[in-house]
Amino acid sequence: MVERRETDSRTLLRRLRDTLATPGGGQDRLDHITHLIADSMHTQVCSIYLFRDPETLELCATEGLNPDAVHQVRMRLGEGLVGRVARTGQPVNTGDAPAAPGFRYMPETGEEIYSSFLGVPIQRVGEKLGVLVVQSREAREFSEDELYGLEVVAMVIAEMTELGAFTGDQGGIGAAHRFPVMFRGTTGQEGAAEGRVWLHEPRVVVANPVGDDPDVEKTRLEQAVATLQAQIDEMLIGSAAMDKEQRQVLEAYKMLAHSRGWVRRMCEDIDLGLSAEAAVEKEQSTARARLEQSTDAYLRERLHDLDDLSNRLLRLLTGQGKDTGAELPENPVLVARNIGPAELLDYGRQLKGVVLEEGSVGSHAAIVARALAIPLVIHATRITNEALNGDQILVDGDQGIVHLRPEESVAGAFRDKIAMQAEAQKRYADLRSLPAQDRAGQSVSLMMNAGLMADLPSLKSSGADGVGLFRTELQFLIRTRVPRRGELAALYKRVIDAAQGAPVQFRTLDIGSDKVLPYMKPQEEPNPAMGWRAIRVGLDKPGVLRMQLQALIRASEGRPLSVMFPFVAAPDEFHAAKAMLEREVERERALGRPVPEKLRVGAMLETPSLAFAPDSFFAACDFISIGGNDLKQFFFAADRENERVRRRYDTLDVSFLSFIETIVARCAANDTALSFCGEDAGRPIEALTFAALGLRTLSMRPASIGPVKHLIRRVDLEGLKKVIDATRARGEQSVRHAVTAWLASQ
Ligand code: PEP
Ligand code: MG
Repeated sequence: MVERRETDSRTLLRRLRDTLATPGGGQDRLDHITHLIADSMHTQVCSIYLFRDPETLELCATEGLNPDAVHQVRMRLGEGLVGRVARTGQPVNTGDAPAAPGFRYMPETGEEIYSSFLGVPIQRVGEKLGVLVVQSREAREFSEDELYGLEVVAMVIAEMTELGAFTGDQGGIGAAHRFPVMFRGTTGQEGAAEGRVWLHEPRVVVANPVGDDPDVEKTRLEQAVATLQAQIDEMLIGSAAMDKEQRQVLEAYKMLAHSRGWVRRMCEDIDLGLSAEAAVEKEQSTARARLEQSTDAYLRERLHDLDDLSNRLLRLLTGQGKDTGAELPENPVLVARNIGPAELLDYGRQLKGVVLEEGSVGSHAAIVARALAIPLVIHATRITNEALNGDQILVDGDQGIVHLRPEESVAGAFRDKIAMQAEAQKRYADLRSLPAQDRAGQSVSLMMNAGLMADLPSLKSSGADGVGLFRTELQFLIRTRVPRRGELAALYKRVIDAAQGAPVQFRTLDIGSDKVLPYMKPQEEPNPAMGWRAIRVGLDKPGVLRMQLQALIRASEGRPLSVMFPFVAAPDEFHAAKAMLEREVERERALGRPVPEKLRVGAMLETPSLAFAPDSFFAACDFISIGGNDLKQFFFAADRENERVRRRYDTLDVSFLSFIETIVARCAANDTALSFCGEDAGRPIEALTFAALGLRTLSMRPASIGPVKHLIRRVDLEGLKKVIDATRARGEQSVRHAVTAWLASQ
């Protein structure tokens, strides 16, 4: 058996690195590398197979096999021993290759005389590049040391690829391995966008995969690991305010960071010649390949932890921060594991799209993306491993699909879609100054939902009659501390100014266990959506609510002011909140400050209970706004955040519509103004149905105003009401089918 010594390995790695400095094309370098490896490993054969597309590997360089087979021999992923290494990301080591399961005989290579086979993947943190193989005549299994040594060599080849060592001619990798990939995620915000990838956390570039002095590299590694451990310990100390899950993640980090096995393996890699950075990446890649094979969901979850720790370690070692100095590309599409609302807001409208691996429909980032009307796809698993800065990317927010480095045919079809949407938007823009009136002259007021200053320009461009819902929590979510009264007053004033006399209905803070403020002590609640949130918090801990009400009064500077309270479930709550507002008005008046010339106070109807409140409640409300998102989730008992059930029940279900009608009737009887401001108000068919049932104010995202108005102007709401009534009389569960058919016939 041939013993490989550490010095052999180090000499080989240095020689490989030196090929970077020698002039020549990618093919020359690959040829030279296979020669060096075969020589150093004392094998007759060394071959490099690279991906040509995600399913096909090609022999790109060889020492020992028939040179004519280079660029001719190809195999499918999973086919033969090479294909198996590529598919599993695991090595294959056998002394009798022809007898090994899956062996495929390829006469064009002349490999039949070589009995032993050792193949290892060439991969870099989840990015599969190819397979490195050595073969010998003698029938023997390769030793552990040899296997380990070859893996180290493969790592250096992978890093060299990243540095562009082999690009430039037909043997080149680096260009060829960047295939189109499609990701199926979930819609966070509708819309389509084409642009270039901008990684929120760019990958660390390892400039030197080979270490010259193992002792120096090990010291660097140990110091970085010690810093990492200290950072995690510090995070744990500060984790008192975190929820259980976050703390558990940190505990898992800590275990991993203190794992002796992890550090020992990296030190062994360094002994074989890798730099500290390359050793970190090698362990990350190897563990990744192993964990990915696992069917254990818990272990697969740990992949994230491992990636996170490895990336932190790499940043410590290279000193590379998140800011690499790279310029934001044109039409940037932000790609990230996750992002906070404040960071997303910093990028603002310059982003064409956002793609996240994590997140949820109701996450703060999703709220901000929606407010900015940026197409957002969430749950695009592993996209941060695949995407590189500058890659072409298509974001289909409607379908929740992302195409990375798309084929031209896909990109073409996608552009058609974007063009069609733009065309429709243009048509809607032409409607801007026309009223939302049906054919019989019945008017519907279309308002917009907002939450940021950035939303306000849409008031004009969409043709909205005002802001039907201004969600004030966004201003709290994007800060690291409670905003001051002066700051809020200035902001609300700018909103009122920008509305130029159009009404703005401010909703007081809707915050609670699910929308946790960074500076709020989180409450552990089994059902946060039904927990201590919104007006419940406002009444129990009135400090912030009072401050917010003061800010609103000051912002009005004597102009009319509309305030509504979220999530009112019982009249008492409304009366108490309204009294608080009135007290603040009186206090301002007593101080000689201007008070709103007209004060309108409303409640959001988001729980079924409120629809059955006594008339005195309705009479006390100047207006009521149906928060359909919450109301529907409680009506059907179906969590709006839960993918499995959130689309299960139809808004046009006759039970829900009858309930809406009840609310319309109660408000009419008490002369209380009524609007609807959930997401459904922006869906044209739903909006039309609500209007036919007597809801004459709808508040929606600005982009929906055009489509909704377009439809209202083409129908007769009276006629639609008859269709709805007839459908109910027939005993159908939903009126959707009947309404759609009627619309088609119009
Ligand atoms: C609603 O519940 O419909 C609503 C408008 O409020 P939010 O979506 O902010 O809970
Ligand atoms: Mg709500």
